[in-house]
Amino acid sequence: MAQVLNYINGTLQHALSGERLDNIEPATGQIYGSLPQSSDNDVALAFQAAKNAFITWRQTTLEQRSALLARIADLIDENLERLAQAESKDSGKPLSLAKTIDIPRASSNFRFFAHALTQFSSEAHESVGQNTINFTLRHPIGVVGCISPWNLPLYLFTWKIAPALAAGNTVVAKPSELTPVTAHLLAELCQQAGLPAGVLNIVHGTGASAGQAIIAHPEIKAISFTGGTATGAHIAKVAAPMLKKLSLELGGKNPNIIFADCDYPRMLEITLKSSFANQGQICLCGSRIFVERSIYAKFKEDFVSRVTQLRVGPPNHEVDLGAVISKEHRQKILNYIDLAQNQGGLLLCGGNKADVPQHPEGYYLEPTVIEVNDHLCRVNQEEIFGPVVTIMPFDSEAQVIEMANSVPYGLSASLWTSDLDRSMRFGQQLESGIVWVNTWLNRDLRTPFGGVKASGVGREGGFEALRFFTEPKNICISYKP
Ligand code: NAD
Repeated sequence: MAQVLNYINGTLQHALSGERLDNIEPATGQIYGSLPQSSDNDVALAFQAAKNAFITWRQTTLEQRSALLARIADLIDENLERLAQAESKDSGKPLSLAKTIDIPRASSNFRFFAHALTQFSSEAHESVGQNTINFTLRHPIGVVGCISPWNLPLYLFTWKIAPALAAGNTVVAKPSELTPVTAHLLAELCQQAGLPAGVLNIVHGTGASAGQAIIAHPEIKAISFTGGTATGAHIAKVAAPMLKKLSLELGGKNPNIIFADCDYPRMLEITLKSSFANQGQICLCGSRIFVERSIYAKFKEDFVSRVTQLRVGPPNHEVDLGAVISKEHRQKILNYIDLAQNQGGLLLCGGNKADVPQHPEGYYLEPTVIEVNDHLCRVNQEEIFGPVVTIMPFDSEAQVIEMANSVPYGLSASLWTSDLDRSMRFGQQLESGIVWVNTWLNRDLRTPFGGVKASGVGREGGFEALRFFTEPKNICISYKP
């Protein structure tokens, strides 16, 4: 049984109440471990540890801090196999995905910010002619809160923790209660790396209990959150009146726009991934596919034929799709598939629970393609977050831009074309934080990451993250000439 513990002041411990939650394996539908259900008292303990640790952590030299973060990155690499196995079991994602994407990215996050912190500089502004110079220092905020979702557990958890620590803050962090195991293993690696006690504290439990205690804590001055838009709005409601700094990375309903002049085989290959990687449970998945009418019939035939060949099965086998995160989530996705058909959508493939004989109780779903005739129908407007995509044709640039921008969200968009002018026109006009042209999920960690509209507030990545996790202080000195 995987027994997850809180990590507070350098030690692994139970919640003060002793209360625990079951941890269910999506691939089998069986309970296979448990985690602490933490509350205000545990968060208060974690906060105190972080507050004490801040006094010395903020004074560590950049070299010491960088070396510690790099050491954690090395330990993640050394434990790749163990972490990938744990991530796959905890989330239902294919082991191959955890091994090639999730865990390597977690170590990249630490290594990237280990380097970035040594390059992040203060600014000076000379007020020429006024005998004045301004120094803009960047100080850590203090104790900050990091809250992450279940779809890319260690990947997104470390994407927040690494820059927060790099900037000199100490952290109270909470992973999703649905996928707590790799955060527990990270705590062990931090101990091994010699991270001083209290610098990172990990508190497990539900959003309503442990999460709420973090966002409502009066002295946790910044919250970095990734998750659903409704949760993000709730966090803003609680935290904004307390004047906390907020970074909110929320939901998406991303368009994938395909023109006839694209590199067709490459587009088809990557569109399969952007539709169904991680069972479609990536906030950046392209769930609305718009295809230029001249190639629509061909695309429909080729795409559906490839989708029906995708292998669904136990995540530790050679499969393309594992299980979705929970029974409730699978039901929500199935409800959307019904709704699509009630609203005139045509099911082209999939649409059902997938039959996986080894694990009849696991949460498997067939990859599903639905042809829709109205870009405003609910399945084309609301985030489903599962292995379900819609397809529909378009006739002109203006029409597809209007359809692409018609949703409340604005996280990412993909465009397939060989026309450079068109890619610039779309880059300018698409309402999203990220536009990929002839590629998908292609990330340089120095670039800003985040969405517009209901997809969030603020940007992560590179110096944007280090700016978020620091307070600028301007010191203005007037001197006698
Ligand atoms: P969620 O909002 O339900 O939960 C996210 C985290 O917030 C979890 O740790 C949860 O316990 C916590 N939480 C819930 N209620 C809380 C509260 N009242 N106070 C504090 N914390 C609370 O989201 P989820 O279902 O875990 O993840 C799926 C969602 O995340 C999707 O909408 C997806 O698009 C989004 N997502 C966005 C990005 C991005 O970068 N924009 C990346 C991944 C996932």
